[in-house]
Amino acid sequence: MENLLLWGLYVVSFYAFLPGFISRTFGFRVFNKGRVEKEISLTFDDGPDPHYTPQLLDLLARYHAKATFFVVGSHAETQTELLQRMKAEGHIIGIHNYVHKSNWVMRPRTVKRQIERTAEIIEKATGIRSAYYRPPWGIVNVFDYANLGYLQIILWSAMFGDWRIRLGAERLKKRMLKKLRPGEVILLHDCGMTLGADKDAPRNMLTALEAYLEEGTKRGYRFVGIDEMIKVTEAAREFRSSIWKRAIISLWLLWEKAFHVAFRLKTVGETNDPAFHYRVTTYNGEAVDFAEGGHVAKGDRVVELHFDNKKLSSIAATSKSPVATGIRMLREVEQALPLLANQLAGDSDAKDIKAVYGVTMIHRGADRLGFEIFQLPEGLFAKSTRVYLRILIRVLTKPQPSAKGKKRRETISPRMLLMPVATIRRYATIQLNKMHEEAERISDVVERSISAAADEAAQLGTKTTAI
Ligand SMILES: [Zn+2]
Repeated sequence: MENLLLWGLYVVSFYAFLPGFISRTFGFRVFNKGRVEKEISLTFDDGPDPHYTPQLLDLLARYHAKATFFVVGSHAETQTELLQRMKAEGHIIGIHNYVHKSNWVMRPRTVKRQIERTAEIIEKATGIRSAYYRPPWGIVNVFDYANLGYLQIILWSAMFGDWRIRLGAERLKKRMLKKLRPGEVILLHDCGMTLGADKDAPRNMLTALEAYLEEGTKRGYRFVGIDEMIKVTEAAREFRSSIWKRAIISLWLLWEKAFHVAFRLKTVGETNDPAFHYRVTTYNGEAVDFAEGGHVAKGDRVVELHFDNKKLSSIAATSKSPVATGIRMLREVEQALPLLANQLAGDSDAKDIKAVYGVTMIHRGADRLGFEIFQLPEGLFAKSTRVYLRILIRVLTKPQPSAKGKKRRETISPRMLLMPVATIRRYATIQLNKMHEEAERISDVVERSISAAADEAAQLGTKTTAI
C-alpha cells in the first residue's frame, strides 16, 4: 500500500507538478514576462462571450490598445464574427483548449485533440493558424512540451482574481494599478461562464480596465499583442548581448595593445593590416622531438607567435562558423609565413632560435603548413587558456545551433603548434623563389611585349615599303 502511494506520488509529480515547476522556474518554452521599456500585454481568457467581449473590444479600440485573446474552442465555435472582429482590429487570438479543463485530468492525446480542434475553429473564422497556447489555470504536463512543439506557451506575470464578482471593481482596480509596469503580461477574463467563475464578473473587469488603460496611456505605455511583446523583448536581449560583446571585444583589443607594448611584440608584414606578431622568448614547456629532426627543450630560444586580434575579430565577424573562421585564419597564416621567415632572417634577436611556436584553438590544417601539433601539458596554463579561448570564440563567432557537440569541442580545444627552425627557414627560400619566379614572369611579359611591338613595327615597316 505504501509503495503504491509512493508510486502514485511519483507519477503525479512527473506528469503534473514537475513540468509546472520547471516551466515557471526556468521559463522553458514558456513566455510570461517581457523585458521592455514601454510595452504592456493584456491577455483575456475563457471567451469569447457574446455579451462582454464586444464591450471589451470597444474599450480597447478607444485606447488604441492591442490585446491577446485565449479563447475556449467551445465558446469560439458559435462566435465567428467576434473572432473576425478581433483579427480585424489587430488583436492576437490564442488557444485555451476546447473545453475549459485542466491538462492534468486529460490524457495527452485528448489535450492534443482539444488544441487542434480549437486551432481549426480559429483558422476557419480568421484564416490564421494560431501560434499561441495558454493551458487552463496555466497548468502544463510533460507531454505538452513534446506535443506542442509548434505552439508558444504563454503564461502571465500578473493576475488579480477578477473572476470573482465579490472582489469588486474598486479593489480590482487598485490591484491592477500596482502592476502598471512595462513588461507585465496581465491576465484577465472576458467570460464568466467557466467553472469557479462568476457569470457577471467581467463587468467589474471592464470598469477596472478602463481606469488602467487611462492611467497607462497617460504614462506613455503601449498596450501590445503578445507577438509584439515577445519581439521587442528578443530585440532588447540581442541588443544587450551585442553591447556586451562589443564591450568585451574592445577591452580585449586594449589588452592586446598593452600586451604588445609590454612584451615588445614585432609585427609581421604590412603594419596597417598584419596577420600576426611575434617575440623572441625562452621556451618553458616540455622537451619536444620533432618528426622532421631537431628538438626544443626548456630554456631554448623560440619565436612566439600571436595572431592579430583585430584581424581575428574581423574575420570571425564575417564568417559563418568557427570552422570557417579557422579556414580563413589558416590562409592568412599561410600567406604571412614567408614574410615572417624573411623578417626572422634579418632579426639579430632571432639568430639562435630553435623553433616557432604558438597556442591556438584552431589548429586543423596547421600541419600542412609545417607545424607539429601538441597537446598542451595539463596544468593551470592549459586550463586557463582553454577557458580564455572558449570565451573568446563565443564572443567572436555567431552561435551555432546545428553544430554537433563533439565536433565543436574538438575544434575549440587549444593546442600548441611548434615549427622546427629548419622549416621556417625554408619559408624564406620559398619567398625568395616566389620573388624569383615573379621577376622571371615580369621579364617574360616584358620580353613578349617587346617582341610583339617589334613584330608590329616590322609589319608596319613592310606595309610602308609596300606603298
Ligand atoms: Zn481559463
